[in-house]
Amino acid sequence: MLDQELVDQDQESVACNGGDDDLGHPLVYYNFGEKNEVICGYCGKKFFRKKN
Ligand SMILES: [Zn+2]
Repeated sequence: MLDQELVDQDQESVACNGGDDDLGHPLVYYNFGEKNEVICGYCGKKFFRKKN
């Protein structure tokens, strides 16, 4: 199952550890850079930056 999380527009990076269920993974960080979304390579969780 894929999870999604919306973060503040000015946030440069996100951290993911697989969430709080039993399918966690090592803590990893992703930078948005030029994009407004990143996908965790471990668990597939999508992080979106808010757009005004
Ligand atoms: Zn993850």
